[in-house]
Amino acid sequence: MSTERTPLIAGNWKMNGSRAEACTWAEAAVQAAAGASNDVAVFPSHPWLAKVAGILAESRVDLGGQACAAEPKGAFTGAVSAAMLAETGCRFVLCGHSERRHVFGETDEYVGASLAQALEAGLEPILCVGETSEERAAGRTQEVILRQLDAGMAHLRGASDPLVIAYEPVWAIGSGQAASPAEAAEAHGWLRARVAETDAERAEGVRILYGGSVNPDNIGRFLEVPDVDGALIGGAALDPNKFGAM
Ligand code: PEP
Repeated sequence: MSTERTPLIAGNWKMNGSRAEACTWAEAAVQAAAGASNDVAVFPSHPWLAKVAGILAESRVDLGGQACAAEPKGAFTGAVSAAMLAETGCRFVLCGHSERRHVFGETDEYVGASLAQALEAGLEPILCVGETSEERAAGRTQEVILRQLDAGMAHLRGASDPLVIAYEPVWAIGSGQAASPAEAAEAHGWLRARVAETDAERAEGVRILYGGSVNPDNIGRFLEVPDVDGALIGGAALDPNKFGAM
């Protein structure tokens, strides 16, 4: 973790929680973040965004959407536009979370277009990249995550566009089998070096989060890695005590 980059601890609630639970989790996050020096964000299911936005108002916790469409509007039943997320109070949106890529079939092209929509709407995209276990076993981790990074970064309009990157090995998400800090360090190093090839200043400032089975017991080891600037947390973010501790 760098002293220059403020760490971001982000909780992705996925398709979990009733409205009452979402309120409880949001209130707990507000309390936990009050005394923290790092940034905190939560990513509720879309129907709870407006309610949670009210709870987070005036707090240190930012709101994020879990995905946005690759088009600004139109006949895309079930989809949510970046502008809708922005109007609901979101600061961030996840682009290309592994479940969007592997369960919903979002391609690099789609993820890039959704990132472009996020920027147009004034949101801060969190571009998620990560290899499958087969790709890692085949020695293709670097190739895969840099391809995903390039496809997303191609849609940045200029040096001032905001960007957060999340390295989330697919095999580590929800499996209880986190990457080792050394594996994270290697991948984060590749990602930051790739950003530096086109924009040294952005590379210095961009936050690269680690995600994949992060919990209160292992988060400290990740945050010790110089190129790890926070965490994207799924399962453990559903427990207010665990999320608060992190
Ligand atoms: C995630 O959903 O981004 C994630 C990292 O999940 P988990 O923490 O449950 O592995």
